[in-house]
Amino acid sequence: MTIPTENVGSLPRSSKLQSAITNYDAGKITREELECEQDAACRDSIQRMEATGSPIVSDGEQRASSFATYPIVDTLAGTGLAENLAPDGQHFAFFTDGHHRQLPRLTGGPFRYKTYAAEYLKKSIKMATTPMKQAVIAPSMLSLLYPLDKEVSGYPRDQFLEDLCNECEKDIRSCFKSGAARVSIDFTEGRLALKNDPNNPWTGRSMLEHFIELNNRVIDRFSAKERRNIGIHTCPGGDCDSTHSAEVDYADLLPSLFKMNAGYFLIQVASEKDKERVYKMCGEYSRSDAKGVPQICFVGVIDPLNPKIETPEQVCEDLLIASKFIPIERLGSTDDCGFSPFSIDTKPKHGSPDVARDIAFQKIAARVKGTKLASEKLGIA
Ligand SMILES: [Zn+2]
Repeated sequence: MTIPTENVGSLPRSSKLQSAITNYDAGKITREELECEQDAACRDSIQRMEATGSPIVSDGEQRASSFATYPIVDTLAGTGLAENLAPDGQHFAFFTDGHHRQLPRLTGGPFRYKTYAAEYLKKSIKMATTPMKQAVIAPSMLSLLYPLDKEVSGYPRDQFLEDLCNECEKDIRSCFKSGAARVSIDFTEGRLALKNDPNNPWTGRSMLEHFIELNNRVIDRFSAKERRNIGIHTCPGGDCDSTHSAEVDYADLLPSLFKMNAGYFLIQVASEKDKERVYKMCGEYSRSDAKGVPQICFVGVIDPLNPKIETPEQVCEDLLIASKFIPIERLGSTDDCGFSPFSIDTKPKHGSPDVARDIAFQKIAARVKGTKLASEKLGIA
C-alpha cells in the first residue's frame, strides 16, 4: 500500500486551443476542426500526465466548456446551448479579482443533459495506458439553473430536481461503464454557499444543507462498492488564478461536507493559511464508515493558482504532518483544484496558459514524487 494520489481534473487549455474555441464561436472553423484540436490537446494532456508517473490520469477536460457547464453548452461563449435554457441565468460566482461567471437559466422542462462526461472519456481512454478518472458536475451546481424564487411555467421545481438527479446518476454510471477507474464530483459551490455575498443572492440563502441532501440523493443510488470510487471535490474556486470563497471558514463547511456518503474527498488545503487546522478537522469529521465505505481524505498539496512549483520534499512534509491527524489508511494527496476549470482562462499570474500548462505538469510530478517519499517515510511503500 502507498498513499493514493489523484488530480482533480482540468488542465489549462493551450493558447492554440483557446484560439480554436474563439474561432469556432465566430464561425471561422468547423466543429470537426475544433474537435481535431481538442483530440490533440487530450492526447498531449494524457501523455504528459502519464510521464509524471501519476497512477491515474485525466484528459485535462480539454473538450469541456467548463467543469460545470459541459453537460449543457459546447463553449463558454454559449455556442450549442442545450434546449430549454436561456443564456441569462444567475451568477455562479464573483471572484476576488473582480470577474464573474454566469450560468444559463432554465426556461422550461424537461431538463436533459446534451453531453455526458462519458462521451469525452470514451474518446480519451483510447489514448491512455494508465487508469483514467473522470470529473463530473454535482447536481447542486446545476440546481442553480432553476430561477431562485420564480417557478418555471409547466415545470415545477421538484420535477426538475428529480430529472436533474436522474441525469447526474446517468452521467456517473456511464463514466464507469466507459472504463473510468474513479469518478469525482465537483462541489465548488459548497463553500461558496456559506459566503453571503450581497452581489450574489443565492449565496445568502443557507443552501449548503440542501446541496448536501441533493447530492446524497444521487450518491445513495450507488452501492458501497461503487461509492469507494466516487469522490467529492471541495475548493474556494480557481479561475483566472483567483478564488471565490477562500474567506469562508472550513469549520463551517467540513462537518457538513463529510455527511455526503462518498468514498473519497479531494480537499483544497495547500493554499490554506493554517493547514494543520484543516487536517485536524478532516480527521475529526471524515467517517471510517459512510454507509459501508471509509472516507479517504485526499489533501491538497499543490496550489494551481500559484506559479511557484512545490518541491517533492514540501509535499512529503505536508503529508507527514497530515498523517498525524488523519489515519494513514484514509490519507491521500491531490491538487487544491483543477488547473483551469473554465476553458477560456488566461492564467494571468502565470503569464500565459502555455506557461501555466508546463508548470501544471511539473507540479503534478512534484506531487507524485513527494507522495511516494511520504509513503516511504511512513513505512508503507
Ligand atoms: Zn476546484
